[in-house]
Order: sequence, then C-alpha cells, then structure tokens
Amino acid sequence: MNEIKRMYYVKKAKRVVDVLNKRKYNAVYVDTLEQAKKIVLDTIEEGSTVAMGGSVTLREMDMINEIRNGNYKFFDRFAPGLTFPEEVEVYRQGLLADYFLTSTNAITEDGKLVNIDSSGNRAASMIFGPKHVIVVAGYNKIVKNLDQALDRLTEIAPMNCKRLKNHNNAPCVPTGECVDCMVEERMCNYISIVQQGGKFEGRFTVILVGEDVGF
Ligand code: SF4
Repeated sequence: MNEIKRMYYVKKAKRVVDVLNKRKYNAVYVDTLEQAKKIVLDTIEEGSTVAMGGSVTLREMDMINEIRNGNYKFFDRFAPGLTFPEEVEVYRQGLLADYFLTSTNAITEDGKLVNIDSSGNRAASMIFGPKHVIVVAGYNKIVKNLDQALDRLTEIAPMNCKRLKNHNNAPCVPTGECVDCMVEERMCNYISIVQQGGKFEGRFTVILVGEDVGF
C-alpha cells in the first residue's frame, strides 16, 4: 500500500482504538497479524476452553491449528467430517467457553461492532455466554457509521457465501449482488450490534490490526 495512504489508515485505526477503549472494550492497535496472534495466545490461559467464530482473519492467522494443537479444550467446529447437526452441537457447547475468538464484519468510528451471521452462534457468543471475547480485525473493517456498516455487511455477504460450502448456491454467488434471497442457503439471517464493551468488565478485547485482512 502507498505509504501516505497507509499512514492515514493507521492514524484512523489508532483513533478508533481510543474510542473503543472509551466505550469500555480493552482495545489495542498492532501493526501486524503476527503481533495480534501473539497477544491472543498470551491472553488465553492453558487449559481454557475455547470456541471460535468462522473468520477469514482467524484463518489467515492459522488460529484454528494454534488452538487445536495447543493445551486448550477446543470446541472444534472445523473438525473434518462433522455433519452440520454435529457442528451445531459444537456451537452450542461453545456458548459456555472461557474464550470466544472471532473477527467482526465492521467497526464503526464511534465504536460499534457489527456482524452478520448465518446460524447466529457468533452473534450470540459475542453478546452473552463465553466469559471472554477476543476480536481480531484488520483496519479495512473500519466504517464511518452504522449505515456504512450495514452496507458493508451486504457487500461482503456474497463473498462469504462463495467461501462457505453451505451457502454456495445462494443467488449472490454468481452475481456478487444481494437480492435479499429466501433460499435455504441464505447466509444473512442475523445481524448483531455490540454498542459498547463494558457490561462485564474485561470481557471484550479488540485487537485492531494495521493490515488489510479478512473480507
Ligand atoms: S440475503 Fe441471500 S442474496 Fe443477499 S447476500 Fe445474503 S445470501 Fe446472498
């Protein structure tokens, strides 16, 4: 990325981190995904139970393998060979995890985390259930306000439909355009907005990364 452009985005990301801290998340800015990964792994105590939302960002961090191979009890929704009902059962168990790892679809400049979800496990887990929530997001997720956040959800949903086999037949996959479908493969079933992070002190950590990661 052009250096001036990057400097602008980094400044904005740091401003948003300040806002997030004022809104009672534990927020931190880091330059790289590797630094974010170290913070995540340093934060989760050995022996903890861990659940994870579906996330390109976490995949780019190789977080599934890190947790799978670490000294944790992983509610592994990604385990090869799981049927969908089995996967859903893992979602249910993960609702009581010590840590829930996820990204977010949009972060508004005034500190709201906005997400779209198919089964609702990520939306639910961010709001209540797991004792701690750790959010890792690239600075490309920052948007001005709630309207832009909702626009962003509609823009990225077709990409996620293309990425996820259960949603490959959604009508937006070949066109890249949302038609508010009603097909079985619809991905856009739940939208959550986290307004602030302070209801349970220390529950929310947000790591904002100065890289373009995830969708
Ligand atoms: S509502 Fe349907 S068409 Fe629109 S993005 Fe979601 S899955 Fe695609």
